[in-house]
Amino acid sequence: MALEFILPQDPHAGASGTFDVVIVGAGPSGLTAGIYCARGRLSTVILERNTAGGQMALTERIENYPGFPEGIPGFDLTEKMKKQATQFGADLREITTVAAMEPAEGGLWSVITDQETVTGKVIILAPGVVPKTVGVPGEAEFLGRGVSYCATCDGALYRGKQVAVIGGGDSAVEEGLFLTKFADAVHVIHRRDELRANKIAQERAFANRKMHFIWDSVPRVIRGETKVEGVEIQNVKTKALSMVPADGVFIYVGQLPNTGFLVNVVELDQWGYIVTDELMRTSQPGVFACGDAKIGPIKQIAWAVGEGALAGIQAEKYLDSMACVQATGASASACEAGLSEAGGDGAASAGGAGAEGAASAGGEPAASGDESPS
Ligand code: NAP
Repeated sequence: MALEFILPQDPHAGASGTFDVVIVGAGPSGLTAGIYCARGRLSTVILERNTAGGQMALTERIENYPGFPEGIPGFDLTEKMKKQATQFGADLREITTVAAMEPAEGGLWSVITDQETVTGKVIILAPGVVPKTVGVPGEAEFLGRGVSYCATCDGALYRGKQVAVIGGGDSAVEEGLFLTKFADAVHVIHRRDELRANKIAQERAFANRKMHFIWDSVPRVIRGETKVEGVEIQNVKTKALSMVPADGVFIYVGQLPNTGFLVNVVELDQWGYIVTDELMRTSQPGVFACGDAKIGPIKQIAWAVGEGALAGIQAEKYLDSMACVQATGASASACEAGLSEAGGDGAASAGGAGAEGAASAGGEPAASGDESPS
């Protein structure tokens, strides 16, 4: 692809640890927000506690993301998104865990990591989710010695063996199918008599002779001496107990949002997901959220990418509006109205600075966060 439209980033942008935009999380939504912000000439840092990609990177093959009719390994799609964000100038800092964020002077936000504190005029929260545990004896004890939450990472260890998969959703069925490449038998243990997974995955799973389904059953104990030997299960209807022999147990019973550091910072729902409006605005001015850790109807890469794009565009508009407030003394709402009348092209009708002023990395801090953009 020709890159002649890519503008060089200001080499001093973010050098002081102050950025136009700080993105927390480098899954598909965070990386997409990074592409939009960096391409909008905003100094942008993306903080990621692991390596980039989130759950996407752990997915063996992605078949429902547009543009890849043959499917694409999650790792490869991650690499492409990462390259796209960084080539536009986003500063991706992996293995950097965000511990807290708090308001700073001048309407800025401090984001405190295990390595440094960075400051942002705008924050985009894209912290993603982690796998839920099933909470049975043996699960924690055998973690890394037979219990796994990642078939892509650990599946090859079970060549010629048998494994159990707990759950009946997309992850359980799709990752179970992946495990049939290695294991001789994959026992899917599901608490109901009907799968939650999408229909194509179900059809493939039912047609695969290595996939065995154990219905209406939940795990009670993961058993073994030095390594996993099987799962004791209970039928939820008959209450009967039985043993499923397995050398490995893969747990796919859903996900939890990585939002512990956001308690009392932005509004979360009762399950810990970040509450936003339709423009990705959280309860705090200048703080946006996108991706799986945010409330939303589905958890899909295509959806996360759309939210990341919207959050990135909203970040830019917010900075334009704050620059206009500073330059003109007009209210945030007047500036926003002026900017939208001007087609996002500058604050002409509000009589102030346009996108250029707002987007410059070394510019003055945004106006006080007292004026909510919502
Ligand atoms: P999920 O859709 O929430 O499914 C979790 C599964 O685990 C359900 O079958 C659930 O049973 C079962 N379960 C939950 N708690 C349990 C417990 N304590 N004991 C036993 N079983 C339990 O989670 P997921 O499969 O990880 O998927 C998460 C999201 O990512 C979903 O929105 C999914 O669509 C999406 N995703 C999409 C794709 C794709 O499009 N290819 C791939 C992977 C994930 P019930 O069915 O009885 O509730």
